[in-house]
Amino acid sequence: MTEDDLKSLYRHHNATIGLFVAFWLFFLVVILLIEFFSLSKITQDNLMGTVFGAAIVLCLLQFKKRCPDCGANLGLQRRLGIPRKCAKCGALLRKDPKMDGG
Ligand SMILES: [Zn+2]
Repeated sequence: MTEDDLKSLYRHHNATIGLFVAFWLFFLVVILLIEFFSLSKITQDNLMGTVFGAAIVLCLLQFKKRCPDCGANLGLQRRLGIPRKCAKCGALLRKDPKMDGG
């Protein structure tokens, strides 16, 4: 595994968690809009469609990433993001940036 692989995994991890948070905020806003504003049925359907679309994209993102060493699917090993170590081959996938000093 190269340094670039590690960087890519780290970026993927942060992106997945960032998008997950953004998704829940978006989901809450949609629920509030539907709850408190008299939106037309078509607008409601469009909003819910967007929510489901975003959920599918998020799932694909989570389950797309594989271990660079053994090819094991990492999305299944952790509920969100990238696990610290590959459960199959034990490769270190994420190092704590705080421990980068030495
Ligand atoms: Zn592995």
